[in-house]
Amino acid sequence: MIILLLGAPGAGKGTQAKILTEKYDLAHLSTGDVFRYHIKNETEIGKVAKGYIEKGTLVPDEVTCAIVKESLPLYQNRKGIILDGFPRNIVQAKALDAFCKLDCVLNIAVSEDLLLERICGRRVCKDCGASHHIKYLQGKATCQYCNGVLYQRQDDSVETAKERFAVYSQQTKPLIQFYKEKGILHTVDGNKEQDAVLVEIDKILKVLAE
Ligand code: AMP
Repeated sequence: MIILLLGAPGAGKGTQAKILTEKYDLAHLSTGDVFRYHIKNETEIGKVAKGYIEKGTLVPDEVTCAIVKESLPLYQNRKGIILDGFPRNIVQAKALDAFCKLDCVLNIAVSEDLLLERICGRRVCKDCGASHHIKYLQGKATCQYCNGVLYQRQDDSVETAKERFAVYSQQTKPLIQFYKEKGILHTVDGNKEQDAVLVEIDKILKVLAE
């Protein structure tokens, strides 16, 4: 099963993906994580992606689509794949259609006020990539899963987050209609706590598996 997690920055895609991959034995392909890996390792792709990510805009489609097309075969060793953060516009969605068939699109809908609060309070683990919120950390500076050091993503500042929301509204949001027309869109209320969101997702996946 190939599942796309759709949603604005801060909607909780990464958090849900991490839970779902373990629960359903799925591989997790996050284009944001792939780009951060390349930036950290100063590869050619990293050099291209860095400026776009720092501004909060999209890395060019040809670079992003090529990475996903090349990487997908490497993610076939589990029962399915979660795509997190790709596609992010109609061009990418049409490119994906040419080499991969999505079974389900989970759209995590969250109000903008909450998104900004989540993004600005987000702290990510340097080792396993898990997201945490300062609200629940109570001063702790290490990951609850692996004890890794937590950091704030450079693009999680208020200014860059606002640019990322604008990019989401203009380029990514049209995918909701795109996948609705294909009959594979399921929307969940992402304003709820993560356990409650997971309950909604579980129900959808259970029906699909029947
Ligand atoms: P994320 O970790 O999903 O929030 O992505 C972080 C940043 O990586 C985005 O703001 C974009 O600059 C870049 N990025 C991630 N996925 C894509 C994509 N599908 N297309 C273009 N840029 C992307």
